[in-house]
Amino acid sequence: MEKACRDCHRIMESGKAVCVCGSNSVSGDWSGYVAIIDVAESEIAKKLGITKAGRYALKVR
Ligand SMILES: [Zn+2]
Repeated sequence: MEKACRDCHRIMESGKAVCVCGSNSVSGDWSGYVAIIDVAESEIAKKLGITKAGRYALKVR
């Protein structure tokens, strides 16, 4: 099960304990999935405040 960062919602590569945003607050309990390819063109990225392309969870508990 992959884990997601509670701070930026980014889905982390398995085996990593610290997110690229610097947070180590990660959770395996998340739902929803969105892949942001082009941040500038993505309405979802704007809503979630995402500034980097990648895979994100919509909800992280
Ligand atoms: Zn993060």
